[in-house]
Amino acid sequence: MKFVNVIGQQEVKDKLLKSVADDRISHAQLFLATEGAGALAMALAYSQYINCTNRTATDSCGTCSSCVKCAKLIHPDVHFFYPVSNSKKIKSEAKSIDYIESWRSMVTSHPYFTFEDWTMEMDIENRQPIIAERESSEIIKRLSLKSYEAEYKTCIIWLAEKMNDTTSNKLLKILEEPPDKTLFILITENYDQILPTIISRTQLIKINRIAETDLVQYIIAKKPMPQGDAMRIVHICENNLKKIDNALLDDKVDFAFEKKFLEWMRICLKPIDKAKEMIAFNATVAELGREQIKLFLAFCIETSRECLLHNYGHQSMHRFTDEVFAGFTKFAPFIHQKNIQPFVKELSDASYHIERNANPKILFMDLTFKLARLLNIK
Ligand SMILES: [Zn+2]
Repeated sequence: MKFVNVIGQQEVKDKLLKSVADDRISHAQLFLATEGAGALAMALAYSQYINCTNRTATDSCGTCSSCVKCAKLIHPDVHFFYPVSNSKKIKSEAKSIDYIESWRSMVTSHPYFTFEDWTMEMDIENRQPIIAERESSEIIKRLSLKSYEAEYKTCIIWLAEKMNDTTSNKLLKILEEPPDKTLFILITENYDQILPTIISRTQLIKINRIAETDLVQYIIAKKPMPQGDAMRIVHICENNLKKIDNALLDDKVDFAFEKKFLEWMRICLKPIDKAKEMIAFNATVAELGREQIKLFLAFCIETSRECLLHNYGHQSMHRFTDEVFAGFTKFAPFIHQKNIQPFVKELSDASYHIERNANPKILFMDLTFKLARLLNIK
């Protein structure tokens, strides 16, 4: 992966490029990012850049033998570790290497995937993937070998917070006395869950959410649309590139969710009187397809938060423009301190079930009655 294919994040790129230009590559770095901000993509671009035999001041060449291997994730000096678990295929003592084929296919198709996507890909049912102690032995083993062809041996640990304490402590020993010319890139989305001793041994690289302007540009380049629509997609998807790409998958996407939300809330306020409308509404939702339903639910969550902010006079914190919010001012008072939490929880639970292939018609029927009860709390 080249830096140019990492969306936005110019500041981080500049910082990493400078470290190479100044020959001051820190041997252990902790990439701290939020989901969908591109920490893994950045780590891939960085390690490809370091290994490239024909790099420029700003990017790897993408065509030398090293870049080609990096792009396919088959470079012998770039090692990946990530949370895994036993599954139907891997019956015991699962290690990262057991899932390398799935890993390569996930990373090469979209390196912004989430932990949840990865869990589903492994097909491990309800088991919790971790980076187990045996992985640290594997890391030691691989790093003690001489590098095959590159100057650096790179070890990328994705979601380092999934290491248990034993794994972390073993890794710590290597971080304290690293073999020559090794580079550790630890990626985390949960800083609080990383051992403080690990934190003190690594250089922190913060990767914030991708800037709205970069994402709007990205969306419009991919699918021409008015800027306002692109901005709305960014908000609904919480600046998460993976969610945005999912949202753009469908060709006939209609992001005018406001009308649909208000129609649904009118039904929710009087579901018994509006049984016919409810059935019709559920049928139109069911036609949307899974990704769009999830987006619609995300929009509903954001709208209810916006309503609450409005009610408490925190207009300055609004993400919606006044023009967009104008349609919700009548509805806003129905969302308040007493119902906001369960209201949002019902919507996010619904999204979770849609992700797992719940039947949308049945789910929305049930959800409508649950929301009705909450909206009628005075
Ligand atoms: Zn190259």
